[in-house]
Amino acid sequence: MRVVYSPAHLAHDVVTETVMGAVIPANEVPERAERIRTALEADGGFPIEAPTEHGTDPILAVHDPGLVRFIDEAWQAARAQSLDRPNLIADTFPNVRMFEGMSPEFQAGRPETHGAAGRAGWWGLDTANPLVAGTAGAARAAVDVALTVADLVLGGEHAAYGLCRPPGHHAARSMAGGYCFFNNAAIAAHALTRASAERVAILDVDYHHGNGTQQIFWRRGDVLYVSLHADPDRQYPYFLGRADETGEGEGSGANLNIPLPAGTTDDPYLAALDRGLAAIADTPGEVLVVSLGFDTYGHDPIGDFALTTAVYHECGRRTAALGRRLVILQEGGYHRPSLGANARAWLRGAEGRPYEPLPATGFGERGSDR
Ligand SMILES: [Zn+2]
Repeated sequence: MRVVYSPAHLAHDVVTETVMGAVIPANEVPERAERIRTALEADGGFPIEAPTEHGTDPILAVHDPGLVRFIDEAWQAARAQSLDRPNLIADTFPNVRMFEGMSPEFQAGRPETHGAAGRAGWWGLDTANPLVAGTAGAARAAVDVALTVADLVLGGEHAAYGLCRPPGHHAARSMAGGYCFFNNAAIAAHALTRASAERVAILDVDYHHGNGTQQIFWRRGDVLYVSLHADPDRQYPYFLGRADETGEGEGSGANLNIPLPAGTTDDPYLAALDRGLAAIADTPGEVLVVSLGFDTYGHDPIGDFALTTAVYHECGRRTAALGRRLVILQEGGYHRPSLGANARAWLRGAEGRPYEPLPATGFGERGSDR
């Protein structure tokens, strides 16, 4: 399987994040993608190539121009205001209740503030989204990775994998958040609908609900969004991801959320996956975009599921068995020692190759880990 990767992600070199007021070592770090790249290289069956530049237009087809401008400008603007911090993290957000009782027209007319901290809140969801000097370049490269994978599949590849970093599925049309800046999967899915004039499905198997992807396609009937994730009653993003969110307007019925309990193990997870795949099989279309996360893994420091490396191979196999062409894009996954093995297992499953753990190398692969 062909793999698309850009070293531009290395410049998004965040060191800390803020969680409930505490500064902690960042989870979404460059090592994640390097672990996966190393394991795929060691496998020998995953040739790695660079993305082609697609420019800003495909991003603007999905995102608010103001969000794109903010991400492009934010670091320099913060520096210009002498905000001498290692990263830019907002702490004040426009909670919807701030505007309670005010008309939608009045709300829509509220201006984006000028200060760097206020702008970060205006365009942000949470405090776990540090922006650094290299963020804009990395976020744009991750979009190029996703679009290049889409091109490969449109060009005849049965499946291809994009090692996107930063991830994307929490980024909504006008909002970054949850380690995400541009929604790589949504941008690729939209481009696929335009290039193929067919319906496209998205299967999101990251541990977290992809609130951004859901929001972007909420009223669209040409993109089916199916997500398996931790119940938002206990987990980020808290305010979206429930089973009764099924889309509106032309998108009515084109959104399927499958929230899962803490401690979910392989067999119930596979049953939920089968449910999601059945919904996809019931809708027309030839291409499936997979938002692939490994924070469902048993040892993930953020997640609370109990999946094993072996089940990722089966997940890849069942997903490919749908018979759709696969645009597979990396989202989360934060247990760094297992990331290479887990990605390799999923992708080999999708290719119909057996799961054969590599010998432990001490980096990128912990083959026998369950
Ligand atoms: Zn996640």
